[in-house]
Amino acid sequence: MITYFKAIVVGLWSVLAGMGITIRYFFSKKVTMEYPEKRWQMPERFRGMVKCDTDKCISCLYCVNICPVSCLTLEGIKAEIPSRVITLEGKEMKRMKDVTKFEVDISKCIFCGLCAEGCPTCAIGMSDEYELSALSRKELVYQYARSGQR
Ligand code: SF4
Ligand code: SF4
Repeated sequence: MITYFKAIVVGLWSVLAGMGITIRYFFSKKVTMEYPEKRWQMPERFRGMVKCDTDKCISCLYCVNICPVSCLTLEGIKAEIPSRVITLEGKEMKRMKDVTKFEVDISKCIFCGLCAEGCPTCAIGMSDEYELSALSRKELVYQYARSGQR
């Protein structure tokens, strides 16, 4: 008989303890987010999707050569009329080549940011885009056309 009542008291106590935790979290500050209606604001130096503005690219191949996992492919042809771009130091530079292909295979990318750090014209950069899932590997290869569109 005593065991029976003891079990009831223990059961009631566990329900009350559980409800206590529920009530405490109900009134405390929310830590979850209603994704995808709301999204995180990434910090300024966050390294997300690699983006390239081929209008600024001078085809120097720095980014292609520095990339530790070889996920960048760049092809260019000699420009008929060389255009001018402004470098990071504010110097004007002749752009002798037009970019015909700029590919980023994001499935290989380790988001190290080395490509963006040394680009002389800031043509390539790390964005705050972090939703990069896809249904196939092919979809993870991004082709950049002129004006940074893909
Ligand atoms: S480092 Fe910059 S300018 Fe040079 S090829 Fe890469 S994106 Fe173009
Ligand atoms: S962030 Fe790193 S791994 Fe990704 S493309 Fe740039 S250099 Fe390559």
